[in-house]
Amino acid sequence: MSFTNTRYNRQEVMPQLGLEGQNKISAGRVVSVGAGGVKSSLLYHLASAGVGTIHIVDFDRVELSNLNRQILYRQHDIGRYKAEAAAEELRELNPDIAVSYSLDRIDASNVDEFLGGYDVILEGGDGPEQRLLVNKFAVDTRTPMVHVSAQYAHGYVFTMVPPDTACLNCVYPDLPESRKGPVPVWGLATGMAGVMGANEVVKLLLGKGELATNQLLSFSNFQNDTYTIPVARRTACPTCQR
Ligand SMILES: [Zn+2]
Repeated sequence: MSFTNTRYNRQEVMPQLGLEGQNKISAGRVVSVGAGGVKSSLLYHLASAGVGTIHIVDFDRVELSNLNRQILYRQHDIGRYKAEAAAEELRELNPDIAVSYSLDRIDASNVDEFLGGYDVILEGGDGPEQRLLVNKFAVDTRTPMVHVSAQYAHGYVFTMVPPDTACLNCVYPDLPESRKGPVPVWGLATGMAGVMGANEVVKLLLGKGELATNQLLSFSNFQNDTYTIPVARRTACPTCQR
């Protein structure tokens, strides 16, 4: 294969991909619950890698204090719906992919409508109830799901492939309430965690490589430490053990 000036040439010439691998990425369908900090860098990389279909479900609007880490948004996006601004930005980055969005909040009545039919779900939600609903949908429909988060200067990545691996409820048996008010977060931790999450998504689409299943990957920006925390599938998990 030669280095021609096409969008994906530099990755298509990788032995792990080839044209066949790129076709798998281009056929990939990913839905994102939310479009905040980690999803900003994650979605950028999915779009640039050529993931063919991206859908974003989010009803938040861009605020000034988002801009230290939510790199999908610009100063002039303040006040706009994130999903709308994100879709616009991703389409500009890569007009060869399909990006759509819903300005909605996921609940039990619409979870199937919004999350059904995708190859990978990007986990998210406003609080434990919604996150566990998304997790349960992924488990019930056997849809791979990638969880990515960042707080302070730490990032976390976890992948699940139901029904074979631990689910989010196994990792966090007591998922805490979302903290009210501003959560300290280092934008670079957000960005790195998002890139690691995108890496998981692309490996899932390719069906190649090691995944962060049955483990929580974590890192600290200020210490340069990386951790792999094993996560056992809980025999008493109310979501994945029935
Ligand atoms: Zn579980």
